[in-house]
Amino acid sequence: MAETFDLIVLGGGSGGLATAFRAARHGARVALLEPNALGGTCVNVGCVPKKALWFAGQLAQEQRLAVDYGFASAPGALDWEHFRQLRQHYIDGIRRRYAMGLEEGGIQVFTETGRFVSANTVATSAGEELRAPQIVIATGGRPHRLDIPGFDLGMVSDDIFELRTLPKRIAVIGAGYIAIEFAGLLNALGSEVTLHVRNRMLTSFDAELVDALEQHMCDAGIRITNQVKVTGLHRDGDNLMIDDDVNGPCGPYDAVLWAIGRVPNSDRLDLDAAGVNVDDGGHIVTDAWQATNVEGIFAVGDVTERPELTPVAVAAGRRLADRLFGGKPDSRLDYDNIPSVVFAEPPLAIVGLTEAQARQFHGDRVHVHRAKFTPMKWGVAGRKHPTLMKVVTEGDDERVVGIHVLGTGADEMLQGFAVALKMGLRKRDLEDTIAIHPSSAEELVLIN
Ligand code: FAD
Ligand code: NDP
Repeated sequence: MAETFDLIVLGGGSGGLATAFRAARHGARVALLEPNALGGTCVNVGCVPKKALWFAGQLAQEQRLAVDYGFASAPGALDWEHFRQLRQHYIDGIRRRYAMGLEEGGIQVFTETGRFVSANTVATSAGEELRAPQIVIATGGRPHRLDIPGFDLGMVSDDIFELRTLPKRIAVIGAGYIAIEFAGLLNALGSEVTLHVRNRMLTSFDAELVDALEQHMCDAGIRITNQVKVTGLHRDGDNLMIDDDVNGPCGPYDAVLWAIGRVPNSDRLDLDAAGVNVDDGGHIVTDAWQATNVEGIFAVGDVTERPELTPVAVAAGRRLADRLFGGKPDSRLDYDNIPSVVFAEPPLAIVGLTEAQARQFHGDRVHVHRAKFTPMKWGVAGRKHPTLMKVVTEGDDERVVGIHVLGTGADEMLQGFAVALKMGLRKRDLEDTIAIHPSSAEELVLIN
């Protein structure tokens, strides 16, 4: 006999946990299946350990700036093992809090994978059958791997958190979020970094700011190889070499990081047993309500075709649980104007439309306002480290449709402006707001 629940959640990452916690709070009887560490990608091999490394890189850079300010101490290398332990301790704390929350919420946890047996029944890898009228798929994704010679000589992002020492010479293949973030932070920590770019960097961000970021990266000593066509990796003694059809053999490197996108974890769920549709890339197809084509089956987070960001997975899961169990029939995630930051050096932040997108939608009704300056923190030390800001507006009353910031503090700066944009911000609202001085953020309200 199958054990029955109100809701089965497949996956205990950002989206699955958020869905389960919220549904349980509304009184639903919830089963959650998670074979690996609680917290999924973000907590274990994503946002959290990455951000810790980024902070370490920022501190290394600040040490150098501190010397410019007149502090005597010369920057030393990071004690990698000490840092790893601190980071792991922090991650363990998050996992413990999740485990406690699950227990307190009365959520039944199965430390196994699940797969569909029918539209309302899931089998665990231990052979147990669970049944529920509502099932949420939140199984996330994994790094994309290529079937080319020597692929496994390189690392994917999951592996980089296992490193015991900082690689001296590293090649990063890719030009998306992960490639740009790791190129920046590894360079700040002291690695010699070469970025291998196939087309353009960060194609979903405003091209002008991406160009400025590329300049920052080059100024910081990151080498960038463009138009790559990587066909494999091979060893040459102790060294790693990249085989590139366009640029010839590239190297030598001590390590290679593949950062070439992620694929959804939908292929081991026996979706056919339930009749759930996926797109060509294997993403589960959902409508505006997170519903799949099968009644009672929903999907949230990276396993869907939506933006692969933790707050998106969390918000989609919470809203879905509010709708299914919380008496809120209109609850669903609005996917417009999702803010996002690439934790590059310096960080690049976006909310709304790029200039190119705005021109495509609104033609010559678009106005662009720019600010470019060196933040005081760098200026005092006589260093050039320009921040670039861009506000994109539409129409005679200049409704703000996009805000873009590249520079120190952009990651903390944009959240509040994203609220304003979502509320219908006009350029005149920026002008009516008194600046906080001296700060970098003030340039956004003073922008001409
Ligand atoms: P996941 O968090 O991946 O969780 C899915 C869970 O499902 C996993 O724990 C997995 O073990 C489990 N699972 C898989 N198959 C099954 C099965 N058959 N049965 C049961 N369980 C299963 N986003 C940000 O917003 N900010 C960042 O700074 C950021 N940095 C990132 C850095 C890196 C290196 C990476 C890789 C990602 C980063 N992301 C970031 C993206 C973010 O981590 C993901 O968008 C987010 O984790 C997606 O949540 P999810 O719940 O959809 O999937
Ligand atoms: P992305 O989809 O962002 O980027 C993939 C990159 O890999 C693209 O530049 C792509 O180039 C390139 N690429 C693909 N195949 C090859 C190849 N064979 N050779 C060379 N380059 C190749 O994926 P990521 O892995 O960087 O990140 C996955 C997702 O995780 C992100 O999209 C983001 O949503 C999320 N994330 C969010 C973060 C944040 O919020 N700060 C941080 C890290 C990840 P091309 O343009 O030519 O296809």
